[in-house]
Amino acid sequence: AKRRGRNRFAWFEQSMEKELRFRGELEQGIREGLKRGEFVPYYEKQIDLESGEITGFEMLARWISPRHGMVGPEVFIPVAEEIGLIAELSETLITMALEDAKAWDASLTLSVNISPLQLRDPWFAQRLLKLLVAANFPPTRLEIEITETCLHENIAVVRSLITSLKNQGIRISLDDFGTGYSSLAQLRTLPFDRIKIDRSFVSSLARSADSASIVEAISSLGRGMALPITAEGVESAEVLSALRRFGQFKGQGYLYGQPASAEAVRRELAAQGLL
Ligand code: C2E
Ligand code: CA
Ligand code: CA
Ligand code: CA
Repeated sequence: AKRRGRNRFAWFEQSMEKELRFRGELEQGIREGLKRGEFVPYYEKQIDLESGEITGFEMLARWISPRHGMVGPEVFIPVAEEIGLIAELSETLITMALEDAKAWDASLTLSVNISPLQLRDPWFAQRLLKLLVAANFPPTRLEIEITETCLHENIAVVRSLITSLKNQGIRISLDDFGTGYSSLAQLRTLPFDRIKIDRSFVSSLARSADSASIVEAISSLGRGMALPITAEGVESAEVLSALRRFGQFKGQGYLYGQPASAEAVRRELAAQGLL
């Protein structure tokens, strides 16, 4: 038994070692990938559910790694945050996205996700505005999506930062609303311009009465606070028609297509006369 125990420990050590090695490789890969331009923006359509028209796109980060293939943000964003690369990564992607979005019809907006860590930087607003000026991109076409507002100690910093962004015409959405990161309390802390209902409520809307009640409640909250709503994760025609019964939402999700490359977006917009 003792021997087996030792073997098991050896096995455990080995798998820890493997994990650490993998983690080390991942960090190294992210650092190098950033230098080599392997991170690219993908775009998900945002739709006015009433008219069916495209209103803009949400930028979603992708890592096209020669080693691992296409990697999603749930894998590399947390690591980039931990190793202090999130601001550089985000600003690189935003710069590319502004160039892409500049070619689109001027009626279309660009939404970008901002890590709570970036909001801790008191210079964040200046840095973002500098990117907009460099790209000659109108701030009124930009929307930023944020979740938890990084602790109450520096809520004053975040508030003044958000206020200066809003003064420039940038709009602020509360992302993932209804999940642990974005709760009712958040709605009172910052002057949001929009609520995004998390897809966990939306995608189950047609088959779950509870989800339907939650979406209905958020809808009336939005009306009461005069906050427009976007529903994430619209996957089916049933969900779409349920949403249209609840209110005038914007929506996004696989019903309208998967997130796509800049090139694919250009082709689609060209076909619709929106380029
Ligand atoms: P999110 O902001 O909630 O983005 C929506 C996610 O749901 C995206 O995953 C999108 O591909 C996926 N999705 C969209 N429609 C549907 C649908 O109909 N059904 C299902 N099942 N999924 C759908 P993705 O691209 O993997 O992004 C995951 C998260 O990573 C995002 O969640 C966002 O929080 C974060 N993220 C993405 N890009 C960035 C970035 O540049 N910076 C930061 N800080 N975070 C980012
Ligand atoms: Ca988002
Ligand atoms: Ca979400
Ligand atoms: Ca999110």
